[in-house]
Amino acid sequence: MVVERLIEALGPDAVKTAPEDLSVYAFDAYTQGRMPSAVVLPASAIDVAAAVKIAKACDEPIVPRGAGTGLCGGAVPAEGGVVFSFARMNRILELDAPNRRARVQPGLINLDLSKKVAHAGLFYAPDPSSQKASTIGGNIGTNAGGPHCLSYGTTVNHVLGLEIVDENGDVQHTWVEEDGYDLTGALVGSEGTLGVVTSAWVRLMRQPEAVRVWLAGFPDVESASEGVSAIIGAGIVPTALEMMDGLALQMVEAAFHSGYPTDAGAVLLIESAGFEDDLNAYEALMAPIVRAAGATSWRSARSAAERDALWAGRKGALGATGRFAPNYYIQDVVVPRTKLPQALSAVEHACSERSIRVANVFHAGDGNLHPLLMYDRSDKQQVAAVIDAGNDILQAAVELGGTISGEHGIGFEKRGTLTRIFSTDDLATMARVRDVFDPKRRLNPEKIFPAGVGCGEVRQR
Ligand SMILES: Cc1cc2nc3c(=O)[nH]c(=O)nc-3n(C[C@H](O)[C@H](O)[C@H](O)COP(=O)(O)OP(=O)(O)OC[C@H]3O[C@@H](n4cnc5c(N)ncnc54)[C@H](O)[C@@H]3O)c2cc1C
Repeated sequence: MVVERLIEALGPDAVKTAPEDLSVYAFDAYTQGRMPSAVVLPASAIDVAAAVKIAKACDEPIVPRGAGTGLCGGAVPAEGGVVFSFARMNRILELDAPNRRARVQPGLINLDLSKKVAHAGLFYAPDPSSQKASTIGGNIGTNAGGPHCLSYGTTVNHVLGLEIVDENGDVQHTWVEEDGYDLTGALVGSEGTLGVVTSAWVRLMRQPEAVRVWLAGFPDVESASEGVSAIIGAGIVPTALEMMDGLALQMVEAAFHSGYPTDAGAVLLIESAGFEDDLNAYEALMAPIVRAAGATSWRSARSAAERDALWAGRKGALGATGRFAPNYYIQDVVVPRTKLPQALSAVEHACSERSIRVANVFHAGDGNLHPLLMYDRSDKQQVAAVIDAGNDILQAAVELGGTISGEHGIGFEKRGTLTRIFSTDDLATMARVRDVFDPKRRLNPEKIFPAGVGCGEVRQR
């Protein structure tokens, strides 16, 4: 019934129902969900509104989907339903260069936005390492971060207004500068549970006059962590401050030959942008700071090619695990920057006691850890060990005063662990907000909230 009605409204080309097509949309980069009843490929907000109305009339869940690079199961259909894929809504609708903003469709790939506005001297700052594939809609869904979010802020700081289709199938608009509640802020990071984004006004930044990248080599992650605290403690906020440990360096070099030292115990990849003179001043300030923290090497990558190679290695690090293990699990937790050494030692402990190989490559400036646990999915014992280790790492982050997710979101994966950081009352308040937008819980059900949590049923776990 739902399929016939969708085809009637959107046309046969825009509705996928073959099992081999549907199976592709049952996955994201984290897990597999249920097969959807149908996948729609809308071409406009009008299509989205029509399809939402049909799904609602047929009591089918609605699952918005970007590129499926999400790492918490956010885009997988937990209960089946209709998946909304935005592959056909991937254009810049309006570029307002003088005001440094653009209106874009949700299926636009993150990196394509920066490429397409480069001619105007502009770029889009949030840069998840998945930016070659992930979409603006998905980035809004997860409030994506990235290496450069240390100084530029995450996606929520770059979304000015949204067009959404609400659970009734009505088109609504939000604008961040309007008086009243900040509904734009509420929608960013809501993982498709409050509305379906059909376009967004995003902030663009002016390309800096100069960019410089430095590489500081350390004997171990502890001294590199000292370096992170010392840089930030000195009042310097680079545009990016990333750490990779020894195993991550070996993986990346084997795959990309980016120019990282494979004999270091850890490196800091530091980038600053601005005027050339400011960068000279930063360099003069930072070099002695990192040396005092224990750096044994320090160099600057002045050419764009060298800089790009270092970033390609860093951003490709997850893929580089393929040479070392058939599968990886990436944990995403945050700790206060000063607690990085304890957090890294908790990661090491959780993995070594289960004989799991782990590499660390992460947004050190934000205290946002991404241990990569390598394993073989076909071995059930290894799967169980990785789940346990991931759980221990998450608990350690909470005990160190941190939190359970830095940027990948809660989705399906972490909904059971929300109670470790929020009280019953907190969750009940959030559930009430959700119920205002989506009282029947048809928008991306079984995400974010612990199983069975409704307004009156939040329980302490
Ligand atoms: C190699 C790799 C590196 C990564 N690096 C980073 C990183 O540095 N920083 C980071 O933050 N993440 C990173 N991620 C995770 C992932 O790329 C991000 O979460 C990204 O924002 C997901 O975008 P997507 O288009 O793939 O969305 P999907 O995975 O398809 O969806 C993500 C969520 O957004 C919702 N959604 C999608 N489109 C819409 C819409 N139009 N309206 C409403 N909701 C919508 C979905 O329902 C889902 O809940 C990485 C992933 C990989 C595989």
